[in-house]
This record gives sequence, C-alpha cells and structure tokens, in this order.
Amino acid sequence: MCGVIGVFAAGRDTFDEVVAGLFQMQHRGQDACGIAMADGDRFSLYKATGLVKEVFGLRPEGMQGSVACGHVRYPTQGGNQACNAQPHLIHEEGCAPLALSSNGDVTNYWNLRAEYEARGVTFAGSNDAELILRIIVEARKEGASLLDAIRFMQRTLRGAYSACMVSEGRLWGIRDLYAVRPMSLGRLEDGWMLASETPAIDINRGRIERELEPGEVVEISAAGCSSHLHPDLIALRGGRTTAAHCSFEHVYFSRPDSKTFGLRVYEARKRMGAWLADRDNTPADIVVPVPDSSTAVALGYAQRRGIPFEFGLVRNHYVGRTFISPTQERRDEGVRFKFNPNADLLEGRRVILVDDSIVRGTTLRKIVRMVRNAGAAEVHLRIGSPVTRHSCFYGVDTPDEQSLIGNRLDAEGIREHLTADSLAFMTVEGLQSCLDDHGQFCVACFDGNYPIALSETKQAEA
Ligand code: SF4
Repeated sequence: MCGVIGVFAAGRDTFDEVVAGLFQMQHRGQDACGIAMADGDRFSLYKATGLVKEVFGLRPEGMQGSVACGHVRYPTQGGNQACNAQPHLIHEEGCAPLALSSNGDVTNYWNLRAEYEARGVTFAGSNDAELILRIIVEARKEGASLLDAIRFMQRTLRGAYSACMVSEGRLWGIRDLYAVRPMSLGRLEDGWMLASETPAIDINRGRIERELEPGEVVEISAAGCSSHLHPDLIALRGGRTTAAHCSFEHVYFSRPDSKTFGLRVYEARKRMGAWLADRDNTPADIVVPVPDSSTAVALGYAQRRGIPFEFGLVRNHYVGRTFISPTQERRDEGVRFKFNPNADLLEGRRVILVDDSIVRGTTLRKIVRMVRNAGAAEVHLRIGSPVTRHSCFYGVDTPDEQSLIGNRLDAEGIREHLTADSLAFMTVEGLQSCLDDHGQFCVACFDGNYPIALSETKQAEA
C-alpha cells in the first residue's frame, strides 16, 4: 500500500501543500517518501527512507515548482531498497522529462519487464511505478503523444495503479481500468490536487470535486482540468461493466475521515459493527476495539446493542516498525509495545473485543491473552470483515495463502487458536451490503474471485 499526491498551482510554489498532503497519508506507508517538482523545464527530486516529518521537515535544497507529485511508500512490489522509493524521474534524449508516483501492484510486471529488458531497457529497481513510467517513456520516444503513450501503457499493463505524473508543465492523474485503488480530485483556491485519500485535500483547504473514473486520465494545466475517459474500457476489461474497488480500503487501510469509493470510511465501518451486532445476542458488559482501524466498527456494534463502548486497550502511536523489528525479542514483545490494557475497565467484565480483520492471527492471539491477563472474565471476538483466505495481488501486502490462518483453519479452529470464548466474522454478502456494493468492489481476498487476471509469474510467486 502507498499514498500518492499531485498538486498544480500556476505561478507559485506547491511544496508546502505536497508535504501537508503526504503527512495526512502517512498511515499508507512509513517506509520511504519522496517528492518530484517541476518549475518550467527544471525538475527537482528528493526521496529517502523515513517518515514525511523526517525527510521533509526541512525543505531539501533546490526543491521548488508549481507542479509536483509525491509518494509515501509501503513496500509490496520491489522490496524496501532506496532505489524503489518514489517518485521516479526519467529524463532521456528523445523525450521530455517525466516524474511519476503510483499506488498499486501490476500483475504482469515480470513478463512486461522481461519484454523491455529484451529490447535493451534497463531498470534501476524492481518497482511497478518505474515500469509504468518506462512504458510511457518508450512510447514517447517512438513518437506517441503523451496521452497516446498513457493509453498504450493502460492497454499493456494489467493490475492496479492510481498514479500522478508530472511532465511538460502539467499534472496528470491516471487510474487503472478497474479503479482498484482510490484517487480523488480536489480544487484549491488557485489550483488542483490529486490524492489517494481526501484528508490530503482537506488539509490544504481544498474542495473535493470527485473521484477519478476507472481508466480515466485527467490533464491539469494553467488552462484548467480536462478529463479523458477511456474509450475501450469495457472491452479491455473483458466485458466487465463494473469497477473493482478494493473493499479492504474500507475494512482496514483508509482513514475513517476519508471519503473512498463514494462512501465515508467511518460510516462503512459503523455499518459493519451494526451488521455484526444484529446477528449477536452474546451477553456482554463492554465493547472494546483493537485500535485504531476497528474503533468505528466497535462503536457501531456498541450503539446497535446498547452495550457500553470502552477503550479497554490503549495504543501507543509512536511505536513504528523500525522500533519493533531489530531484535527477535522486540518482535515477540511487539504487541506489548503497541498496546496496553486499561485493566480497571477489563477486570471481571465480559468483553466483546472487536478487530477489523484476521490475517495471520499471531497478533490477535497475543491481544486476547493480554485482555484475559488484565482480568477479563470472557473474551468474545467479533471481526469487521469476512475470513481472509486468499492473497492480494493488487497492492495490499497480505502474506502468501499458507500463512493466512483463515486458509488453514475453519472458524472453530481459528477460535481455538486465538483462545477466544467465541468468534464471529462478517460474511462476504454482509460486507457487500455495508459498502452498497452492486458488483463494483473487489472481495478477492475473502472469496478468491480475482477480478483482474493474474499472470502465471505472479501466481508462481505466491
Ligand atoms: S484482494 Fe482484497 S486487498 Fe486486494 S484489492 Fe481485492 S479486496 Fe483489496
């Protein structure tokens, strides 16, 4: 998962808006971040591993421009080497410079890369965004207009990408044919903004205009914003008439104050909680979320059943992955660093413990133990999504299927493993009803029906 942003404001610098927007999307990736800016024909690029506040607390020397794209990175395709940080910038003879940042995973990455390498093209890293940009650049060198080069890339690539690109003094927004990852368009007082999540637009006092359509390309310049809808969308999707938005954005990834795929994430999560509550009559004293992504789910559950909502677990927001990962001891203790039980609230209580999803089950097992050790009389787990049984190939870093507890055990086996008194999940149909889904959402990690074909190479990797 990653976050992307693009800003255009004719005749003035946009650095502050890009940084403010990236900061609002830090939850989408803490590994690395970067910004590319253009001031006329002059490009500047700075990217490094670390948080936005660490990398861009001070403006790197020479960075300025009226059009920019930025990125926060969570490594899925390409590992976490610095060469895979984004944006990517290519400036070669025969083509005006282009910079691009993208969110998503390309499913035919290795096949396409091999094709281009066979033609003598070299790659600096192993990241999807570099391949996206490279395809556009090679098409430009062969004489295609920028829009035609983008269309060629869209016909060639399979998978998920929401991308911001800077070239020729313009900002471009490009969305894949299925609109798997979010991307919204916002209007600034004197410019435009594109962002993975709407809080990045809110923080800049922008007005949210709309989300980009599947396959749409928007072109933003001093003349305004023009839209290029994809002419062959349904044919290229093999006849599929609907998008394939990632339902996991609502389950876990997006901020609750984001408006994503037409629905406020907070509202979707409260509906998930109410859905679980409507099918539950387990006697309980308090409802406790595993913060943060399940907080709204727990609230929806508690309100529907009229059971007190309590923060029985408090999360430390300053524990990053870099703090937890150096030693095995810290990894084992990671949950204790991250959560602390509010023991007075838990002691002697029958607890409904709400989490957003179960992937491996290792963390939740430790949390259940922690709640019990704090004195809870009973721990009943309620999960705001269906059982995760399959890997994601479109940009969410789920492990291979064998590591998913839902792939190995049935519901009773999972409950036993987690040592909970009871366990309930949503159904796929339940999740779809909470999202007002009429076929426009991807639920492949729950039901295994992948909306975009996976290349043999990708499946072999899994
Ligand atoms: S497989 Fe799951 S995580 Fe991946 S895009 Fe589909 S819903 Fe999202």
